Amino acid sequence: MRLPADHAYSVAMSVRKADSAHPPPRVTALPGRLPDLSDGACIDHPYLSENAWTGARASYRDRELARAVCGGCAVLSACREWGTGPVGGIVNGIIGGLSGSERRQIRRQRQVAR
Ligand code: SF4
Repeated sequence: MRLPADHAYSVAMSVRKADSAHPPPRVTALPGRLPDLSDGACIDHPYLSENAWTGARASYRDRELARAVCGGCAVLSACREWGTGPVGGIVNGIIGGLSGSERRQIRRQRQVAR
């Protein structure tokens, strides 16, 4: 069987990546576990798409609406705690009713307080 030219190229690339001179990157465990947020109000929200929380180009209005939805969420405290933790601090978007910069500010204040 003859492989298409582009497939043969990708196989050659895979073999090169397995070369011991170029070991695969190390994958370290994420700090902390993701809490169970399956009851989150943002999941399958009837009026707002998930872009309001996570979209890099979400409008100011959509982000404020997302914050309002977070305010009435059943898992707000668990979500906010995760969002201000080591992993949540590097994720952009609205988490637990807080923007990325607000969560990073809280993390910095906690570190200063220690
Ligand atoms: S607090 Fe906000 S981001 Fe977190 S699960 Fe609830 S609605 Fe979603």
